[in-house]
Amino acid sequence: MYDIAIIGSGIVGLAHALMAARRGLRPVVIERNAAPTGASIRNFGFVTVTGQGENDTWHRALRSRDIWQEVAPMAGIDILQRGLLVTAQRPEAMTVLEAFAKHEMGRDCRLLSPEEVRAHYQGAGNALQGALYSPHDLRVESRTAIPLLVRWLAGNGVDFHFDTAALAVEGCEVITPRGRIRAESVVVCPGDDLTSLYPHIYARHAVTRTQLHMMRLASPGFDIGCPRMSDLSLVRYRGYAERPESAALIDVLRREQPEHLAAGIHLIVTQAADGSLIVGDSHHYDRAPEPFYDAAVEALILDEFRCVLGIEPPPVLERWLGTYASAGEDLMRVSPHECVRLVVVTSGTGASTAFGIAEETLNDLFDTETCHDR
Ligand SMILES: Cc1cc2nc3c(=O)[nH]c(=O)nc-3n(C[C@H](O)[C@H](O)[C@H](O)COP(=O)(O)OP(=O)(O)OC[C@H]3O[C@@H](n4cnc5c(N)ncnc54)[C@H](O)[C@@H]3O)c2cc1C
Repeated sequence: MYDIAIIGSGIVGLAHALMAARRGLRPVVIERNAAPTGASIRNFGFVTVTGQGENDTWHRALRSRDIWQEVAPMAGIDILQRGLLVTAQRPEAMTVLEAFAKHEMGRDCRLLSPEEVRAHYQGAGNALQGALYSPHDLRVESRTAIPLLVRWLAGNGVDFHFDTAALAVEGCEVITPRGRIRAESVVVCPGDDLTSLYPHIYARHAVTRTQLHMMRLASPGFDIGCPRMSDLSLVRYRGYAERPESAALIDVLRREQPEHLAAGIHLIVTQAADGSLIVGDSHHYDRAPEPFYDAAVEALILDEFRCVLGIEPPPVLERWLGTYASAGEDLMRVSPHECVRLVVVTSGTGASTAFGIAEETLNDLFDTETCHDR
């Protein structure tokens, strides 16, 4: 008998295991694959605070960033980059950044002139209007960080059952092909598996899947300083997109970059310890996205890279696709039973917010009485 059974070993499941272990509870994680292979190891590992949607998501990102900083050294996870540089290629983009900097969420962020950007960072395009520097963000290498987190949790009181699919949850019991696992509470974190567990809840919240094209480029031969974003990011990330000033930017982008907008492209560039660059991404929405990597989408991403960094893209070393659950709300958290919570990040922000979300779920399950939503 466990205190808490967690289904799914992506970052959302692991975050719940961590917060449970911190409370002195006995958690078990049930994962159908032999290791985590979902969105959580395919992402940028970018714990993005600045630009997240005002209120809940931004606060959860701030809290999660703090918890990453506490846990990373203990789990042997390197924080490879800190901060964020959003460069503006158009005056309309600079106006959005100026408006953001005046907002509470822009606290401690700095606006930089083109000269200041060029003095401090290599790789800045010709059309540079200026930039916003945020000190709040950090980056880990997900493909190594997630396995390290699993290993550290396993050594700190968390049991793992890999290669074990959860077939159903009955009351507080998880039914698996290997037998029943009993716990006081169950947290279900299956990410973008829309059909195996609670398909009616996924359907009711109109959850679909978002697919992204990603690549790793060879080192450009210099340190990019911190993760980069571009004008296209300002109409995707709610923290900027919800500023009224973004309306003029979107008009310009519709005229100048319609193909990029249609493919949901914006630029994130992060850098690994060996200097290689993780570059993306695109957004296609479908319950059953095409499984094939589209070279035309890659060309659009690299076109944006060329403009923003002002260099020819180095050779592509790896390409992959990733998917995550998405819906109109940033987070779906419902209670199909009084001792069960279904927790799905539906906004592509799980690496940035999972620890904050897990802390709330644990408070809800173990500190208070709540009503449920069937
Ligand atoms: C390409 C890409 C880039 C991204 N970049 C960022 C970023 O930079 N910053 C950021 O904050 N977010 C980013 N995201 C979003 C982030 O990765 C996701 O929000 C997050 O990983 C979701 O975590 P999860 O644990 O819910 O899902 P997953 O990592 O997909 O994990 C779900 C797990 O549940 C398991 N599972 C499902 N059903 C069952 C079952 N019935 N029984 C047992 N196990 C089950 C699956 O096998 C899987 O291992 C990105 C996503 C992608 C795809």
